[in-house]
Amino acid sequence: MSKKKPKKVRAEFRKNRLAPARDDDWTRQFNAHGFEQKDTLREQRVSGKGEMTRRRTVMADVADDANTDRTDVMLDVDHSVCLAGRVLSVHGLTSLVQAIDGRLFKCATRRLLKTLSTEQRHVVAAGDRVLFRPADQQEGVIERIEPRKGILSRTSKGRQHVMVANVDQMIIVGSAAEPYLKPHLIDRFLISAEKSGIRPIICINKVDLIDRADLQPLVGVYAQMGYAVLLVSAKTGLNVNRLQRLLRGAASVVAGQSGVGKSSLLNVIEPGLHLRVAAVSVESQKGRHTTTTSRLLPLDCGGYVVDTPGIRQFQLWDIIPQEVAAYFRDVRPYVSLCRFPNCTHTHESFCAVKDAVADGRIDTRRYESYCQLYEGDLA
Ligand code: GDP
Ligand code: ZN
Repeated sequence: MSKKKPKKVRAEFRKNRLAPARDDDWTRQFNAHGFEQKDTLREQRVSGKGEMTRRRTVMADVADDANTDRTDVMLDVDHSVCLAGRVLSVHGLTSLVQAIDGRLFKCATRRLLKTLSTEQRHVVAAGDRVLFRPADQQEGVIERIEPRKGILSRTSKGRQHVMVANVDQMIIVGSAAEPYLKPHLIDRFLISAEKSGIRPIICINKVDLIDRADLQPLVGVYAQMGYAVLLVSAKTGLNVNRLQRLLRGAASVVAGQSGVGKSSLLNVIEPGLHLRVAAVSVESQKGRHTTTTSRLLPLDCGGYVVDTPGIRQFQLWDIIPQEVAAYFRDVRPYVSLCRFPNCTHTHESFCAVKDAVADGRIDTRRYESYCQLYEGDLA
């Protein structure tokens, strides 16, 4: 969709670089990173003109897309010396990167990348697809971050903090009983997924405890909206193989209230994995991780489980009431038919949404869920 075209990009120096030791530094950077020779020369010329001109021009591909954030600036890198990899986790200035062949590297980040993405709190995020230059068998330097999609982020102090990038799907786990099913919670997770552009998969666990026919009306409502719904049991193993097939080759975030059986399901799919998930949750409860640390946990069957502690507690919820209807697939088609353009679909007359509820085209429970989310269940 987004067309790429090579473009010159002006990159500002970071503050601590405003008075560079001229020649040496450029030479070293050129050697280390392979900047275009002509750009280096040009900057040598202007670098005496004071702070306003202390910028450098680099060649890059820029996604031709209105939504481009600055990480979508794709720097030219020397592919012959770089490996492709996936960032499993970020620890301060160091990222743990898994190369395509499975080897792990501790990577620093190329300085130029940091200067290009001033909008982000962290330049590199867990889940990023990167090109990195290995220095030896264990360490390297991230040279380029590929454009992201499927981002789970949090806004703090007006800045978007990407917690994890390139998430393919969200497995929304509920339990049929113990604790009893909370469809409203599923709806909340669905909104998070819709907003982030992540494919939701609804997974109702513990169906060994109930009569599955009782769930059919609910399953029908979600299926009609085009959502995948799985009825599973970690205890009996029912449909766990179907869940496993869905996880294969994808990066999946697993969301759901505590006690619904997320760890149990992961444990059936890959024994040992849940222990690694649990270890982080325990640590974060003790407050050792004040910032939420996301990790990708590689699965033996291929793919990753994305462990994002924040999503379970809805720390990622930054949806305003006016947005809610757009993320309800069943409500959305009626919104433009309401009499008042600013209709909230709660108390207004001549509301096409309420009409649709009245004659059964929108499920009543879903509408109640909408009202609840609209009216302040947004904390
Ligand atoms: P989590 O908090 O979502 O990770 O949930 P857990 O995996 O820790 O499971 C919570 C409780 O539910 C445990 O006591 C599990 O043994 C139980 N449980 C998990 N899956 C099933 C299931 O499919 N059927 C039944 N009957 N119990 C289950
Ligand atoms: Zn309306």
